Amino acid sequence: MAASAAERSCAVPAGQLTSMPGSAELKDQFGRRITYLRLSLTEHCNFRCQYCSPAAGTPYFEREEHLRPEEIHFVLRCFYSLGLQHLRFTGGEPLIHPQLLRHVEYARELGIGKISLSTNGYLLARLAEPLARAGLNSLNISLDTLNPEKFQQVTRGGDVARVLRGIDAAREANVPRIKLNVVLLRGVNGDELAKLVEYAVTRELEIRFIETMPLGSAGSSSQDQDYFSAADARAEIEASFGPLLPLASSRDQGPARRYTLPGGRGRIGFITPISDNFCATCNRVRLTATGRVVFCLGQEAGMELRPLLRAGASVAELGEAIAQGIWRDKPERHVFTQDRDRSSKIFMMRLGG
Ligand code: SAM
Ligand code: SF4
Repeated sequence: MAASAAERSCAVPAGQLTSMPGSAELKDQFGRRITYLRLSLTEHCNFRCQYCSPAAGTPYFEREEHLRPEEIHFVLRCFYSLGLQHLRFTGGEPLIHPQLLRHVEYARELGIGKISLSTNGYLLARLAEPLARAGLNSLNISLDTLNPEKFQQVTRGGDVARVLRGIDAAREANVPRIKLNVVLLRGVNGDELAKLVEYAVTRELEIRFIETMPLGSAGSSSQDQDYFSAADARAEIEASFGPLLPLASSRDQGPARRYTLPGGRGRIGFITPISDNFCATCNRVRLTATGRVVFCLGQEAGMELRPLLRAGASVAELGEAIAQGIWRDKPERHVFTQDRDRSSKIFMMRLGG
């Protein structure tokens, strides 16, 4: 059978890649350089977290609509040639994707400086070691509560004990950087933040608290009753541990404002999409499992790469199209607080957070 156009133009083996970063770069109209790609491998997930997914899940894409492994590699080459420094695998749940290890290895061979992954941790006990071997530098594990009943409720069926075993496995596998992500949910973990901090600090893991974003019919915003701001979360934590001490943040560490407990113990971050907009330093775009580059988490602006890939575009042609799209259409900021309707058509589960 003859190879498709995309297969032909993706034919360079990973070990012989020649594209060098830094020769060209991605920029938007607001002076921001785009060096970070969040790649959603699948919209499927083994959980249905209340703030991320409707109870019945989101409609799945057709198999043919998903990018094929060689198309994903082609897009990675393209971004790499445009200065990509950080790639994050996400989903849905990336650990259920059968090609995950192959993609991590490919990204490492390509030379991408930082390769990270976000996971719910459910399959981590089995995959932590192979992921570390494949070249993963950094792992974010979602953990909203340590209470088994609440965990089951918020994830609609998840087993927290299994996730905790996954966290232990990641530590044993020596993944260089492990962070815990906690979405702030007043009715779920409002009374548990100190416990979560203690859990993280005793294991020398960084922990970050994230304000819920209103996306799809899930999530909440400052207008909602259960809205839980990072400022309130910080006050809760300080009531148990004393005043937090600010740590220097760098653009490389993302949008979190980082602190340590009195005495320099632990690393605690707050991510404030609602109460303190950080879009001015945005350095990222997202790629969905079907090949749509999404320019901003809270808006629909983006472009479809699949038609270009399947029409046989070269790395240079695809790169030019991406660079133009980002320059022309990447919005200045999200509009969660000003225009909830505009954000409400997007589900996090499809976007990857
Ligand atoms: N399944 C993986 C996980 O749970 O980490 C990766 C995908 S998930 C969409 C990525 C991140 O987005 C998780 O940390 C999750 O807690 C966060 N997230 C999902 N929906 C959110 C929302 N409405 N507001 C804030 N964070 C959200
Ligand atoms: Fe799945 Fe992650 Fe969304 Fe939870 S937050 S439903 S684990 S994609």
